[in-house]
Amino acid sequence: MDGEGGRGAAAQKPKKSLPASNKVKRRTRKDENPASDDSPKSEPSKKRITSKIETAKSKGSDDKKQKSKKKETTNKTQTQNTDTSTDVKPETDAFRNQTSERKTRVRKKPNNDNPKRVEKEVEVSEMVTKHLHRSLSSHKYVGAHVSIQGGLWKAVVEAKRIGARAFGLFLRSQRTWNSKPLEEEAAEKFRSTCDELGFEPRYILPHSPYLMNLGSPKPDVFQKSRAMLVEELNRCQKLGLTLYNIHPGSHIGEMPVGKCLELIADGINYAHSQVSGVTVVLENMSCQGSTVGGRFEELRGIIDHVEDKSRIGVCLDTCHAFAAGHNLSEKTGLQRMLDEFSEIVGLSYLKAVHLNDSKGGVGCRLDRHENIGRGHIGLEGFRKVMNEPRFNEIPMILETPASSHFEDYSDEIDLLYSLCE
Ligand SMILES: [Zn+2]
Ligand SMILES: [Zn+2]
Repeated sequence: MDGEGGRGAAAQKPKKSLPASNKVKRRTRKDENPASDDSPKSEPSKKRITSKIETAKSKGSDDKKQKSKKKETTNKTQTQNTDTSTDVKPETDAFRNQTSERKTRVRKKPNNDNPKRVEKEVEVSEMVTKHLHRSLSSHKYVGAHVSIQGGLWKAVVEAKRIGARAFGLFLRSQRTWNSKPLEEEAAEKFRSTCDELGFEPRYILPHSPYLMNLGSPKPDVFQKSRAMLVEELNRCQKLGLTLYNIHPGSHIGEMPVGKCLELIADGINYAHSQVSGVTVVLENMSCQGSTVGGRFEELRGIIDHVEDKSRIGVCLDTCHAFAAGHNLSEKTGLQRMLDEFSEIVGLSYLKAVHLNDSKGGVGCRLDRHENIGRGHIGLEGFRKVMNEPRFNEIPMILETPASSHFEDYSDEIDLLYSLCE
């Protein structure tokens, strides 16, 4: 596939251009969006977006950046800003500018009215008025993949702003092997912001960089992936996080599936031996190309080889599952899928859900996310998802593309909660 084949290929040689994505037009989240196939595919279009938006927005966003820098007088924040901007260099500009664009729309008023207020307070108060109506007593913890532009702690603030009760994020650049070490101050700021805004670690699901392929037949990618997993779990530990989502991997057509599964498990065992306290969560894939993890048997195959079963889990991506043949648009589709999951993998391993509709039809094997209710799964499919007790008390994270139908993720979160019966 594209996703894993794509990812594998991207890791070894520059991505051969897949058709430029036509779905990322306006918003930021696309660029930080862990839609596996989207990552390589979106490169060209992302660049276009960057330059376009840079021209239009760079002035405003620079002003804004400066303003907020003035506001934050402590060394702490400065360290963080530096940290992330260096960290996510190649991609940052794209989503930074897009983020600014989106945030400008939403935040213009409070920022202008009272420039002395701390940015975080502004956002939280906005959230209080905007999202108070949402049922906090729901057993569903819906959220979205949020940007770390400006510092990891900003992701937490953004999650609160959109009314999320859970969130996903990258912990560093998702497209480069190297990144700056995580500063203790940045980690502390992240932890305290989570505390302050009420996000428990069990509802936060970091996503691995796209390059990681623990099952790669290429020795360099294989070794770098193992090292990266250790480094990432260390980051989680520093940040007080307990879950870490990975795409299992890809054999890129050069290795038997069984061997690939063993290598992936081995990489996880190795990371477990180096870092304690973090559970690795395997994301089900769409069966595209040479990715593994699209079939539940493959997830089980990895888990079988993981020694510490208390630190391995699964995140079910609705788009990937649908593309892999589970017809979630049918009345009993979700039940059947979960029964199968329960039988093959085991419900106790279910740690999270990625909420994405699918551009492709059932069984298409394509990893193409669509906005909730606008793809082939459809609203009725998501109504089942939102009323499924087996998804209670676990993070449910949107990774849908920017769309003219929704202002931002908060609209999709609202839509999802409205489906709860
Ligand atoms: Zn993913
Ligand atoms: Zn995806």
